[in-house]
Amino acid sequence: MLARLVLLLTVALSGCTASRTVSDGHIQASNIGVTAVATLASRAAQGKLHSSEDVATALGAGALSGLGFYHSKALAARGRFGTALALGYASASIAENVAEGEHILGAVRYGFGPLDVRLRTPLSRRDRPPAVLEINAASATTMAALPILGYRPDLEAGALVFRGDGRSTETDPDRIGFAIGRTVGLDTDRADVVAHEMVHAIQSLHVGAVTPGYRVALEVGPVPVAVQVDWGLAATGALHLVVPYENRWTEVEAFSLVPEDPCMGVCPVDMRTAPAGVSRGR
Ligand SMILES: [Zn+2]
Repeated sequence: MLARLVLLLTVALSGCTASRTVSDGHIQASNIGVTAVATLASRAAQGKLHSSEDVATALGAGALSGLGFYHSKALAARGRFGTALALGYASASIAENVAEGEHILGAVRYGFGPLDVRLRTPLSRRDRPPAVLEINAASATTMAALPILGYRPDLEAGALVFRGDGRSTETDPDRIGFAIGRTVGLDTDRADVVAHEMVHAIQSLHVGAVTPGYRVALEVGPVPVAVQVDWGLAATGALHLVVPYENRWTEVEAFSLVPEDPCMGVCPVDMRTAPAGVSRGR
């Protein structure tokens, strides 16, 4: 059961297989269009769609969020992971606020690793606590398990990643990086692989922002706590089981934003096709 859940949440297992790619404009337009529609659907599912004005607000804010997510992923592709995550959280805040019927800037969410804090702003239209601590269930579980499997936490350009000891690549050369939800594991220092997996981590943030029923409130103490449940991401993973790797939208987007490095990280920097500015890791 746990293995199946992990499989569904694994949006990426990077290896030698590259997917097809599309143009930058295509990715930008897709992020804007899909997020607009998904925000509208999420708002409808949450019973907050009552007027044509609600429809216009959801579509407009969703489009803005999608544009933000596009730039967040593009920043991650250039190795600017901390900035990419900041923009990703801002974009997530816009979409989830509007999907809840809240003011577009009624709350802001930011986090590190499996923990997020969602803060009320003066623009909030709802009776809500000043702050809620949110725990991402998938990230908390995987981050607890990875050290047992030989991965150690590390910082990569402002983002938390887990680095392996190289044992897994001895048995499976294709297994050089993975993203389980927003947890990134690395068995290589290749800059293109690190950037690729960070794009997947932001995709997880993206899907969560437009997933209705993403939060389960817990009554555990004086500070409000909620658990984030990535059922939308798991559903996406389930759909991907019937789609060939090279056609999965998560892979098409990641490989389009981060060109694969044909040199496998061993040729001179000026021969590499990875975008300029990509961090070389350790
Ligand atoms: Zn991938």
